[in-house]
Amino acid sequence: MDSISSRVDKVAPSLTLSVTNQAKAMKARGEEVYGLAGGEPDQDTPDFIKQAAIEALGEGKTKYTPAAGIPELREAIANKLKTDNGIDYDPRQVVVNSGAKQSCYNAILAVIEEGDEVIIPAPYWVSYPEMVRLAGGEPVIVETTAENDWKITPEQFEENMTGRTKMIILNTPGNPTGSVYSADELRALGDVALYEDIIILSDEIYEHLVYGETKHTSIASLGKDLYDLTITINGFSKAYSMTGWRIGYAAAPKPLAEAMSKIQGHTTSNATTFAQYGALAALSGGADFIKDLNAEYDVRRQFVHGRLSAINNIKVVEPKGAFYCLVDTTDLGLTSVNLCDKLLTRYRVAAVPGIAFGNDNSIRISYCTTLDVLNEGLSRFEEFCKAH
Ligand code: PMP
Repeated sequence: MDSISSRVDKVAPSLTLSVTNQAKAMKARGEEVYGLAGGEPDQDTPDFIKQAAIEALGEGKTKYTPAAGIPELREAIANKLKTDNGIDYDPRQVVVNSGAKQSCYNAILAVIEEGDEVIIPAPYWVSYPEMVRLAGGEPVIVETTAENDWKITPEQFEENMTGRTKMIILNTPGNPTGSVYSADELRALGDVALYEDIIILSDEIYEHLVYGETKHTSIASLGKDLYDLTITINGFSKAYSMTGWRIGYAAAPKPLAEAMSKIQGHTTSNATTFAQYGALAALSGGADFIKDLNAEYDVRRQFVHGRLSAINNIKVVEPKGAFYCLVDTTDLGLTSVNLCDKLLTRYRVAAVPGIAFGNDNSIRISYCTTLDVLNEGLSRFEEFCKAH
C-alpha cells in the first residue's frame, strides 16, 4: 500500500510476539503446547499491588497525572535508585513511562538524529534496532561470542565507533543471553564511551533476576563521568510480574529527562494513573515477592542449564541472569526459524528463533514456566536434537 511511510517499511514485525501468538492459537484449538517462548513471569501480580490499584480507583484516581508520573512514584523510584543501585537522581530526573519499552523508545527519540549510529551488541533484545530505525538512526550490530559470555568487549566497542556514533545500548542482565556485566566490564566499556561522549542506554529491566554469586551493577553508579552519559531504564514488568500494567521508567541527567518527558507529553501523556499507584505499592512492599521469584527462577535456571548441557549437538553458556537460556544450534544445520517451526509443529514445543535477536544459529528458551512444562518441553527438544 502506497500510503504506508518508509519509516514503517524499514521495521520488521516482532518475531517474539509472532511465535507466542502461534503457540497461543494452537492451544486455543485444544492442542498441547509446551511453551518455552514466553517473556513474562508465570506468577500473578501480588495481591497487595492489585489492592493498591483498586483503592486508587475507589478514590477517584482516574484522571490525568503529570506526563512524567505522580510525584510520589517519581520520588519512590529516585529513592530505590539510590538505595538499590547507588545512583543519585532527583525525582525530577525520573520519567515514568508505559513500560520500559516506551522508556527505551523515548530515550532513543530524545538522542538520535537522522543518520546517527547506535551500537547494539548482538544477540540483542528484539526491539532495539527497530526503535533506532524508527527514530531515523542506524543500528550498528556488533556480534558477541559465547566464549565471551555474549558480551561486547571494549575493543569491539572502539572498533565499531565512528564519527556518527551517538549511543550504545547495554542490557544487563541480558535478554536473550542471560549475561550479566560485572562492574569492571562496565567501567571499561564506559571508558570507551567517554572518548566521544557516547550516550549509554542502560536497560536494567532484569536487575532483580541475577543468580548465585552474580551481582547487578548499574553503570551510572560507577562515577560522575558515566552518570552524565547514562540513561538508566528499568520497570515493574519482570520483577513484580506486572507486564500488563505497563509501567516502566527512565532516569537521566536533567536535560535528557526533560527531553524524554516532552516527547511523552505529546505522544501518550502519563502512564495509566491507577497503575502508577500499584507500582508505588510494589516499591514499598515487594521485597519478599522478588526474593521468592528469584529463588524459584534460580531452581529453574539450574534445571534448564543442566538438561541442555547434557545434549551433545548443541551448546549453552550458563545464564547468570534474566530468565532465558540462549542455545547455540549451529550443529543442527537449520535456520533458526525453520528449527523453531519444526519444533513447534512436530514436537509441540514453542521457542524463539535466534534471528529475532540477530543470531540465526541459536534459539531462545525461556524458563518462565513450571518445572513440569520445562521437563517435558526439554525432553521433546532433546528428542528433536537427537533426530537431527
Ligand atoms: N527491555 C528488555 C530487555 C525486555 O526484555 C523487555 C520485555 N521483554 C523490555 C525492555 C520491555 O519491558 P516492559 O514490559 O516494561 O515494556
